[in-house]
Amino acid sequence: MKVLISADMEGTAGIVHSAHVTPPDHAGESGIRNNAVEFDWARRLMTEEVNAAVNGALEGGATEVWVTEGHGAMRNLLPPALHPEARYVSGRPKFLGQLEGLDRSFGAVMFTGYHGRAGTPASILAHTFIGIIQEIRLGGIAVGEYGVNAALAGHFGVPVAFVSGDNTVVAQVHELLGADVVGVEVKRALSSTSAVHLHPEKARAEIRAGAAEAVRRAPRLRPYLPKSPIRFEVDVAKPDLADLATLCHGVTREGPRTIAYEGTDMLDVWKAWLVIRNVMNSRMP
Ligand SMILES: [Zn+2]
Repeated sequence: MKVLISADMEGTAGIVHSAHVTPPDHAGESGIRNNAVEFDWARRLMTEEVNAAVNGALEGGATEVWVTEGHGAMRNLLPPALHPEARYVSGRPKFLGQLEGLDRSFGAVMFTGYHGRAGTPASILAHTFIGIIQEIRLGGIAVGEYGVNAALAGHFGVPVAFVSGDNTVVAQVHELLGADVVGVEVKRALSSTSAVHLHPEKARAEIRAGAAEAVRRAPRLRPYLPKSPIRFEVDVAKPDLADLATLCHGVTREGPRTIAYEGTDMLDVWKAWLVIRNVMNSRMP
C-alpha cells in the first residue's frame, strides 16, 4: 500500500507559538523577532514526528511512503534528516497543496502536525489555511484544513487513516471522519498558545505505533465524499474580502462576510478555492 503523509507544523509536540512556525525571513511581517533558534528546533521536532510516522507506516505494511510538506512556504522539513525511505514533496505552488503527489494509486493519507479549524476555542494556533478565514463549511459542516483535505483525498478514493496534533484537531477529525481514524494527541491545549505536551520522544513513539495501526486499518476505512453538488461556503474577516471573492467565476455572495461556491466534485471546489484564495490574498497586507 502506498501512503501519503501530509505534514503540517502547528500540531507538533513542543510547539505553541507563531515564533515556532514562522521562518525568520518572514517573521518580521508578523511582528516576530529573533526567532531563528526557536524555528530551528521546531522544524527539527516536525521532521522527527514525520520520521516516526514513516517508520510506523512501513512497520504497518506500507510499500511506499510519500511526505508532502503542508506548512507555510512548504519548505520546513530538513531533507538530510528525513527518513531515507520517504519520497519528499516540497515547495510551492503545488496544485494539490498539502496533498500534492496524491492519486488513485494510494491506499491512505496521514495527517501529522495538524491543527484545529479557525475559531476553535483553546486550540493551538487554530486557523484554516489563511488568517482572514473565519470559517469554511463543506456541505453545511464547519471544517478545517483536515476536512477540505479529507474531501480532496476522497475525490481520489483515498481515506484519511491517521491524525496527530493537539486534542482539538484529533476530536474534530474523529467527529467528521469517525473514530476508526487513528488519532494521536501529542499535546492538550490550554489556550491558543499554551499546552501540556508529551515529551517529543514519547510523542514520536505514539505516532509510530499509531501510524502502523492506521495502515492496518486503512483497507476498511471509507474515503470521505461529501454529496454532489458540493456546497463550499467561506466566512471571511471583512466585507471587502468577500467583495473580491465574488469576482471569481461562479462565486455567490451569501452575506456581508460570506461567499459560496457550488462544485460538481471536490476537485472542482478545490480549483475554485485556489482562485478565491489568491484573489483575496492580493489584498492582504
Ligand atoms: Zn495548517
